[in-house]
Amino acid sequence: MSITENVARVRAQIAQAALAAGRRPEEIKLCAATKMNDAAAVREAIAAGVDCCGENRVQELVQKSRENAYHGAPVHFIGRLLQTNKVRQVVGKVELIQSADRLHLLEALQAEAARQGIIQDILLEVNVAREESKGGFAPEEILPLVENFGRFSALRVRGLMTVPPICQNSGENRKFFQEILDLSVDIGAKKYDNVCVDILSMGMSGDFADAIACGSTMVRVGTAIFGPRRYAAPQP
Ligand SMILES: *Cc1c(COP(=O)(O)O)cnc(C)c1O
Repeated sequence: MSITENVARVRAQIAQAALAAGRRPEEIKLCAATKMNDAAAVREAIAAGVDCCGENRVQELVQKSRENAYHGAPVHFIGRLLQTNKVRQVVGKVELIQSADRLHLLEALQAEAARQGIIQDILLEVNVAREESKGGFAPEEILPLVENFGRFSALRVRGLMTVPPICQNSGENRKFFQEILDLSVDIGAKKYDNVCVDILSMGMSGDFADAIACGSTMVRVGTAIFGPRRYAAPQP
């Protein structure tokens, strides 16, 4: 199956999941998770009509930007920014940073966006299953954080993002998606400085239909569009 056919199939599945949940298909944006796929693959996905691209690694973002791979679609950053000295290569270069996952990073993003004189849109990443291996705020940290978001004057929270555990059986992640939806409703019920919640980024190749049933407005899909990623074989 080609990337073009895959995008069409994923779109149809998104529409089906939306309609089954009494939602309009247009409410859900399709973000192509492009990690480990080259500029040609990214261009094909954009031509096939994905709404945006999500990059995981700064190096790939820089490289593919240089190759003009994202022409015609916004690019988002969706990976872990472990080294805050890399924020310069991301802030102001992407439409949305989906993976703002800790206070120290927020401070670094704020400093860089202020230095550039821009407002950077971000999502707060929630570690909904409290997995050791993953970044993200614990669910109970989110409300106190947004209540005091006025100090991040160069950032604007647009919503929440989450990466739940890889699920073995369909439906397993619904409780996590529902928890994020509930949290976003709590935030949306009040008015906080520099915060609005119009994006819920949740759902990947294996579970996007469940995420859509639970209110997702953006699914990040890699494998179902590009096929399995080829990780380099370990060197002997
Ligand atoms: C790789 C990745 C995805 C896409 O995962 P697939 O299972 O290949 O669809 C989505 N979100 C993030 C943050 C990712 O790193």
